Amino acid sequence: MTAENIFEGRCSCSKLRYRMNAKPLVVHACHCRQCQRVTGTAFVMNAVVEKNQLEILSGSVANYHFPDTYHTAFFCPECVTYVWSEYKSGTFDDCWFVRVGTLDEPDRLPPDVHIFTESKQPWAPIPSGAPKFDRFYTIKELWSESSLARMEPYWQDK
Ligand SMILES: [Zn+2]
Ligand SMILES: [Zn+2]
Repeated sequence: MTAENIFEGRCSCSKLRYRMNAKPLVVHACHCRQCQRVTGTAFVMNAVVEKNQLEILSGSVANYHFPDTYHTAFFCPECVTYVWSEYKSGTFDDCWFVRVGTLDEPDRLPPDVHIFTESKQPWAPIPSGAPKFDRFYTIKELWSESSLARMEPYWQDK
């Protein structure tokens, strides 16, 4: 474990502190309407990491499940900052989607891919050459070999 693989973050009131003990598997910029609504902005930045690589250092999380979706959002019960989400559709059951903006050093994790650009706000720029998809992508074609290897044991059981 090296410092380059450790990412710490917190909520807005700092009662909740957490640490990711691995680099994210992938970082999504999601432009879907639901992410726009939940965050109140043009897109969300999610660092996807195995649940067992994230530890809560202090504080606690509450959660809210959005009806008729796979999405449950987790937040600090004191200041209501959303810190991560769960998408229980099968593939990502064992992952947290951590809000990059809650990291102490969010600049370390630019997006690897832009998704659901079909509902991108028209002014929002996507750097030329950055991978982008109207909706979702094929994981095996986009993820690094090491990220695929990390998730292999989880996907074997499915
Ligand atoms: Zn808080
Ligand atoms: Zn989204």
